[in-house]
Amino acid sequence: MGDQVTGALQAAAEAIRNADRLALACHVGPDGDALGSMLGLGLAARNAGKEVVASFGTPFDVAPPLRFLPGLDLLVPPADFPEEPAVMVVFDCSSADRLGELGANAGKAGTLVVVDHHVSPDDFGHVALIDSTSASTGELVHALLGELGWPIDAGIAECLLTAIITDTGRFQYQATKPETLRIAARLMEAGAVPSKITQNVYEKTPFGYLKAAGAALERATLHPEEGVVATVLHEDDLEANGIDWGDTDNLIDLIRLAEEADVAVLAKVFRDGRIKLSMRSRGATDVGGLARALGGGGHRLAAGATLTGETPEEVIQKVVSMVEDYR
Ligand code: 5GP
Ligand code: MN
Repeated sequence: MGDQVTGALQAAAEAIRNADRLALACHVGPDGDALGSMLGLGLAARNAGKEVVASFGTPFDVAPPLRFLPGLDLLVPPADFPEEPAVMVVFDCSSADRLGELGANAGKAGTLVVVDHHVSPDDFGHVALIDSTSASTGELVHALLGELGWPIDAGIAECLLTAIITDTGRFQYQATKPETLRIAARLMEAGAVPSKITQNVYEKTPFGYLKAAGAALERATLHPEEGVVATVLHEDDLEANGIDWGDTDNLIDLIRLAEEADVAVLAKVFRDGRIKLSMRSRGATDVGGLARALGGGGHRLAAGATLTGETPEEVIQKVVSMVEDYR
């Protein structure tokens, strides 16, 4: 952890310690890192006597695989979130647009603390605890709790270990460091059970997901010259099989298995015409840079963007024509 991050850690801890009330938020469509980090800090703050609310922008729905997380009772719908919070902390999110409608609340916060491991395109927040070398936001929350001197009970440990496990792809991605594993070990000692987390997140899915994934795999296209594998998942696929978007978070991990491709692209097509791209790279392509060029964001090896006004086929063709520039 560099000097700048250590300074930000102290500043973030001070802002949080001095607050009686904390308003917490994370990015829309929260994944395990966003939700686990936010609830982990929220539970610790409540234990420390703070009044805590947590939320995320519409659609206000926790993905089914994450519904085992402790601390879901901290969640309030975005409409009930304080309009002008004195102290607001945002997790796994370093730009206002990733907060959905809560971006407006962040703009009016007395003190806005950002806890994230993404490279931030804009100057966001009064205190920016951002470390792009961290494999997960959960590790930064672990450091923050250490700085605050707040105890980590089994529930908090489960939230933070979920954050770390999901964002490191079960410790398999390159961002995983020795320190990541040391923190995970400490969280286990505090009572978190990795097999409980992985069984909930990775080892079960509604049967309908198999059928929807089958439809998406059937449609997959390989662009061997550019090294891209791509496919499309429609909201109709979900409806036909009785599942939600939240059930499909692991689909990109199936697509990316094609060894001919460095880049895997999943275009999720919403009824309202929005297309949410999920992109993964084996290493040769900076999909984070590519996503930023499309108005999105993320990391070198995992990134995304949301587009409108084009067909999924056009969007995929655009990505295929762009990859060369990000190698
Ligand atoms: P996923 O494909 O799992 O949804 O997202 C992978 C990564 O890309 C995450 O780290 C996430 O922060 C980033 N990402 C995904 N979608 C978007 C988006 O619409 N905008 C931005 N700025 N980042 C995104
Ligand atoms: Mn993350």
